[in-house]
Amino acid sequence: MATKNKKNSKVVYGIKKSASFIIDSFKKHAICTLSDSGKIINCNKTIEVLTGYTTDELVGKTYSIFCSGNEFEKKAWRKHLEHSLAHGFSNFEGISAAKNKTRFWCSFTMNPVFDDGGKFLFFTLIMQDITERKLNEEKKDEYLGIASHELRTPILSISLYSELLAYQLKSESDKKTLKIFYDMRSQIKRLTNLVDDLLVVNEIERNSLVLNKIKFNVNKFVRKIVRDFRATTVGQKIVLTGKVNGLVFGDESRLTQVLVNLIANGIKYSPLLEKVIVNVNSDKDKVIISVQDFGPGIGSREIRDIFRRYFRSYNLNKGNMPGLGLGLYISKQIMSRHGEKIWVKSKLGKGSTFYFSLSRAKKD
Ligand code: ADP
Repeated sequence: MATKNKKNSKVVYGIKKSASFIIDSFKKHAICTLSDSGKIINCNKTIEVLTGYTTDELVGKTYSIFCSGNEFEKKAWRKHLEHSLAHGFSNFEGISAAKNKTRFWCSFTMNPVFDDGGKFLFFTLIMQDITERKLNEEKKDEYLGIASHELRTPILSISLYSELLAYQLKSESDKKTLKIFYDMRSQIKRLTNLVDDLLVVNEIERNSLVLNKIKFNVNKFVRKIVRDFRATTVGQKIVLTGKVNGLVFGDESRLTQVLVNLIANGIKYSPLLEKVIVNVNSDKDKVIISVQDFGPGIGSREIRDIFRRYFRSYNLNKGNMPGLGLGLYISKQIMSRHGEKIWVKSKLGKGSTFYFSLSRAKKD
């Protein structure tokens, strides 16, 4: 990890003292500074309320005092120190134990601090009790799990009846009724997607999400989804660019859910008559699919929470925009279970581009 340099130790001491002054001035957040090996250098008074330990008891101990005790968590903490040093930050959530052994959910934000010469000084660690939020999420999961199971059967029946009706209407060539019927079918599709999302969240939370990976043609896959959207979207124009030859390997129906979520968001969050561009591209190893919109974009403070369960931008959704804040969370879970990435680049006022990667299928 970071190297030690005795010459600078006086300067570092001065900086650490002023860091101590700064963190004491934070009243709402529990904050401490950590050495490169994860030892607590100093902390503010709020941490006493959160953990039950006095600041004197904490100084000199390692981060493991914040873990609920198992080795796996300690290992994860070491990884967060390394990640924070390499990338300039690490945000994570975990279960912490207070001095009186009660457990609570905590969010951690860790940043390394460097001097002007780029030498590592210490980490700052901000801690926040998120137990209430986590309990609310559990309650929501339970409720949505039950509701979605109950909804599935009637939706499936309606969907089947609608297919029969389409057949009947086509043969009678009643164009007016057929148009009403197509509108109705697009609403059934929305409902089906919503229930699929709810069911998959339940599987993710119970750790029972199973992937049925197959080889499939990525161009056909994207084209079919874009075609379905074009058939049911009135306001925005969906443009398809790029092409990739060959097959990819993954669970086609779960990946459909990912792309559907991204395009649906692109449409939902961009102004009428704007474009939503779906692109398929590749480098040597990976196929990259992206969805670009010219909507409001996502601010830098919100971007780090964007894939979190139930996260919804307050500003964007206060106009009663429908949604549950689950689509991106589900997409992230599906991609990481594939061992693939999903990420976003965005600028406020300019729009957003969401990307995800897929692996090319190996030749037999
Ligand atoms: P939902 O759209 O149902 O709220 P998502 O998980 O799909 O749930 O998205 C979470 C949040 O991320 C949204 O509420 C919105 O604030 C933000 N978001 C998602 N996609 C976009 C986009 N294309 N442009 C701007 N903000 C977006």
